[in-house]
Amino acid sequence: MEALKIGWIGLGNMGNPMVQNLLKAGFEVVVFNRTKDKEKELTALGATSGACPQELLQTCDMVITMLSNDAAVKEVFESENGLLSQDNPNKLIINMSTVSPETSRYLATICTAHQLHFIDAPVSGSVKPAQDGTLVILVGATDEDYLLAKPIFNVLGKVSIPVGEPGKASSAKLAINYLLGLNLQGLAETIIFAEKSGVRKEDMLSIINEGACGNGITNIKANSILNDSYPAAFALKHLVKDLRLAKEAGLDSPLIHPLYDSYKAAQKEGLGDEDVMAIITSLRNK
Ligand code: NAP
Repeated sequence: MEALKIGWIGLGNMGNPMVQNLLKAGFEVVVFNRTKDKEKELTALGATSGACPQELLQTCDMVITMLSNDAAVKEVFESENGLLSQDNPNKLIINMSTVSPETSRYLATICTAHQLHFIDAPVSGSVKPAQDGTLVILVGATDEDYLLAKPIFNVLGKVSIPVGEPGKASSAKLAINYLLGLNLQGLAETIIFAEKSGVRKEDMLSIINEGACGNGITNIKANSILNDSYPAAFALKHLVKDLRLAKEAGLDSPLIHPLYDSYKAAQKEGLGDEDVMAIITSLRNK
C-alpha cells in the first residue's frame, strides 16, 4: 500500500517532534508554519514545505493541525487560503491542538458542510512523549474516520482512545489538564512548604517520588525544580488557556477557581512563555 501523504500545520514545541516521528516512520509530510523559519529543520529531514493550508489539503490525503488555541485553529480553517477556502471533498482533517469542545463541534459541522471528514484528537503528554512517540491520543471521531487515522496515531502515540463524537475528546482533554494543573500546583506548594520548614527540595522530591504520592508528572518535573530552570515544554500560558476553557465548559468545582487564578497571576507576572512548572516561581514570591 502506498504511504499516506500528510499535511502538517503548526511546528511548535509539539508539532516539530511529532512530524519528525512521521518522517522516521516513512510518511511523506508537507509542512506549513506561520513563521516559515521553523520549517527548515524539518525540510532538512525530508519534509517538503507548502505555501498555504489550502495547498496542503489539496495535495495531501489528510491534514493535521497542531496550533496554539481556538483562534489560531479557526484562522487556519477559515481565512483566505485557509483549509476551507476551496472544495476538497472527502479529505480528512485532524485537529490535535487543545481547543474547547464547542470549537471542536463547530469545526466538525463546517467540515461536514464542505464534505470533509473531521477528527478531534488532542493529546495528553508533553514534548518528551511527543519525541518518543508515546503520547496518549484522545479521539473524537466516527469509527470509519478513526480507522483511517489509526496508522498515524500508532506512530505518534502509545495509545489512542476513542471517546465518542468530535467534541468529546476536547472535553476529556480539558479534564485531564485540570488534573495536571492540580498536580503541579500541589507539587509547587508542597516543595515551598517543606523548604520553609527547613527541608531541602532535593530531599522532599525524593520523598514524593519514592512514595505513593509520586507520579509521572512529579518525576518529569523534578529536574527543573532542582535546577530552578523552566524552559517551556508545555508553556504556562497554554495551561491558563485550558483552565479557562474548562471553566467555560462548565467546570465549577471547589478548586478550579483558585487554581485558574493562581496560574493566571503567574502569566501576568511574565511567566506565560516559561514551562508550566514555573508556577513554583510565582508562588515563591507570594
Ligand atoms: P507552541 O509551541 O506555542 O506552538 C504553537 C503553534 O501554533 C506554532 O506553530 C505557531 O506558529 C502556531 N500558531 C499560533 N497562532 C497561529 C495563527 N494565528 N495562525 C497560524 N499559526 C499559529 O505550542 P505547542 O506547545 O506546540 O502546543 C500546541 C497545542 O498542543 C496547544 O493547543 C497546546 O495546548 C497543546 N498541547 C501542548 C502540550 C505541550 O506540552 N507543549 C501538550 C499537550 C497539548 P508560529 O511558529 O508562527 O508562532
